[in-house]
Amino acid sequence: MAQATTEGAGRRKPALTDLSVGGFALLADMPGARSFTPGQVRRWVLQRGARDFDAMTDLGKGLRTALSEHWSVRGGTLLRRHESIDGTVGLVTRLHDGEIIESVVIPEAERRTLCLSSQVGCAVGCVFCASGIGGMVRNLSAGEIVEQVLTARDESGDEPITNFVFMGSGEPTHNLSAVVSAIETMNSPDGLGIGARRITVSTVGHPASVRRLAQVPIPFNLALSVHAPTDAAREQLMPGLGRSDLGETLKAARDRFDASGRRITVEAVVLDGVNDRDEDGHAFADLLTGLPVMVNLIPWNPVDDLDLRAPRAERVEALRSILQQSGVEVTVRRPRGQDVGVACGQLRRRALDPSDEEEEQRR
Ligand code: SF4
Repeated sequence: MAQATTEGAGRRKPALTDLSVGGFALLADMPGARSFTPGQVRRWVLQRGARDFDAMTDLGKGLRTALSEHWSVRGGTLLRRHESIDGTVGLVTRLHDGEIIESVVIPEAERRTLCLSSQVGCAVGCVFCASGIGGMVRNLSAGEIVEQVLTARDESGDEPITNFVFMGSGEPTHNLSAVVSAIETMNSPDGLGIGARRITVSTVGHPASVRRLAQVPIPFNLALSVHAPTDAAREQLMPGLGRSDLGETLKAARDRFDASGRRITVEAVVLDGVNDRDEDGHAFADLLTGLPVMVNLIPWNPVDDLDLRAPRAERVEALRSILQQSGVEVTVRRPRGQDVGVACGQLRRRALDPSDEEEEQRR
C-alpha cells in the first residue's frame, strides 16, 4: 500500500487516512486498544473529521499517546484557500513531502461539486491545461485523495458537498489502484458513505483504461475527455496520450453502458479556432450520434502563459446547436472561479511560484 506519511520524532509516520475501511482493524494491536478501538478511530478519522488524536475524546489518554507515536491522522496540510466571487473555492494542500496539490469546490444551483486530483502533475500534458506543464511528478496515495474530501468537508461548513469528480490534476487511470481504494473508502457506509452515483471518474479514455474502469465493481459515473472529434486532433491536443483510438474507446464505453445502464459523459474543452468551428461540431455529431452519451462542452478557462484563447460565446452556442440538431444531448459548463484562477493545475503552479507567495504576503 502506498502511504502518505508525515515527519515526526525524526521518522515518518503513516497517515490513518491511508488505511482502507477494513485496514483500521490493525489498530486493535495497539497497547491499550480494545476490540472496538478500530471502529472508534475509523469513525473519528473518516466520519467525524478529527485532525489530531486529542480530538478523539472517547479514547483513553494512553491509547491516544500510543497512536500518536506511530501514526499521524492526516498527511497533508491545507496551505491556502481561494474563494471566488461566484462561490468557487480552490483548496491548495501541501503534502507530507512538500509537493502541492489542489482541489476545487464548485457550487452550481443545488449542487456543490468537489473536483479531485489523482496525481501531482500529469503525464498527458494537454496543451490547454496547467497540470501537465511540469509533467508528471508522482501518484497520490489513496489517503491523499481521501484527505481532499475531508478537507473540502472541513471547509464547507453547513453546505455539504454533493458530487465528487476526478477531474483535477492527473489522469486517474494512471494511478488506478489508489483511485479505486479511495473510491472504496468514499463509497463504503463505514467510510464516507458517498453514493456511487455521486462519484465521477474522468479519463482521457484509452480503450484498455475504459475496460479496466468498467471492471471496478462500484457503479460510479464515467466521463471521457474527448476534446476533439478525430484521432489526429486529439493526439495534438493531448501529446502524452499516445495513439488515440476513438472508435475503440467509444465501443468500450458503450459496453460499459450496456453492462451498467450508466450513461457516459463526453467532455470537450472548447478552444477558440481549435475545435469550435462548425466543421468540428458536425464531426462531433457524426462521432456521437446514436450513442448513450451526454456531451459536456467546457469553454476553456484561461491559464497563465498559455497561448490559447477562450471561445466566443456564439461559437459554443453554435456547437451546442449542431449537436442538439443531431439528437445528441449536450450541456455547456459555465466558466467558474476565473477571478482566482482555478483552471486545472493553476493554483498549484501559483503556489509553487515564489513571486506569487511574496505577492500574497503583500496583500
Ligand atoms: S486536462 Fe487532465 S489529462 Fe490533460 S493534462 Fe490536465 S490533468 Fe492531465
